[in-house]
Amino acid sequence: MRIILLGPPGAGKGTQAKIISERFGIPQISTGDILRKAIQEQTDLGRRAKAFMDNGQLVPDDLVTGIVHDRLAEPDCSRGYILDGFPRTLAQAEALTESLKGQRGGIDFVIDIRADLSRLVKRLTGRRLCKNCQQMYHEEFNPTKMKGVCDKCGGELYQREDDTEETIVRRFDVYESQARALESFYASSGKYRPVNGDLPVDQVTREVFAILNH
Ligand code: ADP
Ligand code: AMP
Repeated sequence: MRIILLGPPGAGKGTQAKIISERFGIPQISTGDILRKAIQEQTDLGRRAKAFMDNGQLVPDDLVTGIVHDRLAEPDCSRGYILDGFPRTLAQAEALTESLKGQRGGIDFVIDIRADLSRLVKRLTGRRLCKNCQQMYHEEFNPTKMKGVCDKCGGELYQREDDTEETIVRRFDVYESQARALESFYASSGKYRPVNGDLPVDQVTREVFAILNH
């Protein structure tokens, strides 16, 4: 199954992608995670992406589409995948459609996790991640048993540099400038399914699974 997760920063794409990945045994492909890893490892890609990410801007399309094209060619994607945070622009969506041409079926579902932006600031400022396994937590909505320590692997938690109020506002603007074009691109494909991301995590998961199991 090939799935795209759309939605604003903080909507719960990463959270739901991890749950779908475990349930269906397909990889989560998060362009944000790939880019953050490149920055951490100080690769050429990381050096080129860093300033855009720190400012809450999108990394240029050609860099990102190249990463995804290569990643989708890896063997673990043969049974499907979940794209989390890609595509983010119409040009990326068109490039993806182009690169999937010739592959049986293309994308099966485009799930748009819709949410009220005003409520997402709190989700993002409270987001914490494990340095080791990237598991997601929230200081209030999904805290770890021991403060600052990952429940899963004991790794240390950290806060993303772009999860500050100032950068969040910029990321919302970027999202809003692209969202409608992406929605209409996929709405015409018949694969587009909106879900209510304002609900608690397990209720969003229920909506998502109802779509995937249909
Ligand atoms: P995205 O990948 O869309 O940016 P995340 O999955 O990283 O969003 O979620 C952002 C933060 O909000 C995380 O701290 C996560 O634990 C929390 N979160 C995710 N979904 C929900 C939800 N439905 N209700 C409350 N908190 C949520
Ligand atoms: P995310 O982890 O999805 O919140 O993404 C964090 C940051 O990575 C974004 O604010 C962008 O700077 C960059 N990024 C992630 N995915 C993309 C994408 N598909 N296109 C452009 N930039 C991206």
